[in-house]
Amino acid sequence: MTGRRAPYLREMGLVQWRYISPIRVNQAGNSVTKVTAERRGRQDAPSALSTLADDVAECERCDLCRTRNQTVFGAGSARARWLFVGEAPGAEEDKQGLPFVGRAGILLSAMLFSIGLSREDIYIANVLKCRPPNNRDPLGREVRECSPFLHQQISWVQPEIIVAMGRFAAQALLETDQSLAELRGHCHKYQINELPLVVTYHPAYLLRSPSAKRKSWEDLTLAHSILD
Ligand code: SF4
Repeated sequence: MTGRRAPYLREMGLVQWRYISPIRVNQAGNSVTKVTAERRGRQDAPSALSTLADDVAECERCDLCRTRNQTVFGAGSARARWLFVGEAPGAEEDKQGLPFVGRAGILLSAMLFSIGLSREDIYIANVLKCRPPNNRDPLGREVRECSPFLHQQISWVQPEIIVAMGRFAAQALLETDQSLAELRGHCHKYQINELPLVVTYHPAYLLRSPSAKRKSWEDLTLAHSILD
């Protein structure tokens, strides 16, 4: 294992790997190119997302507004081809107002780098925009109240693929109660506009269960192959 990716792939628990060209220079197919051109033509996504972020910052639709320090809206390129979705802010995200900071964020960056992406190439958001107290699991009514914000984010970014990280994100986006094990390894369709959607582990889970990192890398290469 050599090259700039070696430490990132080691972080992912990968001792052998096959080089994959970065997705930005690995375009294939006129239809993808056409979709990309149409999407790039949308100049209003950044301002629309900014307006939506302001709305979220004032949201009191569920009780989490009472315990949050601040909302965590999302981050990344407003015209990203890849959109990653997590569960909810943790303590550090609640403090900084940004998604996926801290150890889980560092691992996410390593996961991205292992397939030729960086945080600047993606858009990332959580299902919930406010931290559940003590990092408890999101409640059904919280997911129902907050999901419309996520759907609006997806409709403004117009990615070409969605990666759902963890059970809650996958179940919320696919409106299913299937387990993560059942949902991994397949190309699903996002319920609203039928974007391809791949399910993988949440980086926080991978920190607790490093042996699953290889499976997560396989999920990301599946997503990469779908785009190709
Ligand atoms: S979690 Fe979502 S719905 Fe609940 S208060 Fe925060 S932004 Fe509003």
